[in-house]
Amino acid sequence: MIDLHCHSTASDGTDTPTELVANAVAAGLRVMAITDHDTTGGWTEATEAVHALPTAFTLVPGAEFSCTHTGPDRRPITLHILGYLFDPDAPGLRAERARLRRSRLDRAAEIVEALAADGYPISWSQVADLAGDGVVGRPHLGQALQQSGVVASVDEAFADLLSDTSRYYRPKADSPAVDLIGLVGQAGGATVIAHPWARRRGSVLAEPALAELVAAGLAGIEVDHVDHTLADRARLRELVAEWQLLGTGSSDYHGTHKAVRLGAETTSADTLDRLLTLTSGVVPVHSPGGQ
Ligand code: AMP
Ligand code: ZN
Ligand code: FE
Ligand code: FE
Repeated sequence: MIDLHCHSTASDGTDTPTELVANAVAAGLRVMAITDHDTTGGWTEATEAVHALPTAFTLVPGAEFSCTHTGPDRRPITLHILGYLFDPDAPGLRAERARLRRSRLDRAAEIVEALAADGYPISWSQVADLAGDGVVGRPHLGQALQQSGVVASVDEAFADLLSDTSRYYRPKADSPAVDLIGLVGQAGGATVIAHPWARRRGSVLAEPALAELVAAGLAGIEVDHVDHTLADRARLRELVAEWQLLGTGSSDYHGTHKAVRLGAETTSADTLDRLLTLTSGVVPVHSPGGQ
């Protein structure tokens, strides 16, 4: 099984990179991509964990970038773009990751401040403790609200206080998607749009806007994702065929921050092979028992 979208404590997952690799093996995965938000911070630890495995396993280094795009209908939409196998030292992309992380810190602090001002028991030090060295995200705020007994679960926090339509919501300064696709390409990587039609989370890109991203160099679409309906998956599969893109399936695992399990959605070996031929930034990491 191949799962190309997984989070660790390097961002808002709850497994350390070492635990993520161990859990991937236990779940029966043969290939896993580590795709933390706006960071390569988990790559080194995950690589070390893979090097220590007795069984065949392959790690695909990647990241999930926070982006925005204004399509032909002139509506700005936030979206996530997965970058795979890019050179982590490419200066343009490295600087953009750092900028995105700073924006995440500023906006998380603003949300905490707004919640606290209305009397919710949440503090920055609590959130900073929960995020640790990882890139901060709303799931950390949800965890803090759960710890304080404001909500029973992170899911409940996302349904109301932390939703995109909440009065406490604050935007991040995301990357223009076309620029980000270019930066990943310049760094030798390939891009796949994550959960493009996860409509439950807010407005999504219409087909003409997706076509603009493809024209900018987008290599693939994450078709199979827990937040996609069967009808949307079917239409995305048609677009993948028509536009000759990679069609992936992935879990978007976040440990205990989300209910989805590793390997809940998977990508075909053929699609992974095509992804590998498109990339030259870094090579996948094989365990000694692999090849
Ligand atoms: P942020 O990146 O800080 O805007 O927070 C969005 C992140 O929260 C994404 O990685 C989502 O996968 C995650 N997320 C969205 N909805 C939920 C939910 N109901 N429970 C937990 N995490 C969620
Ligand atoms: Zn996340
Ligand atoms: Fe995402
Ligand atoms: Fe994700």
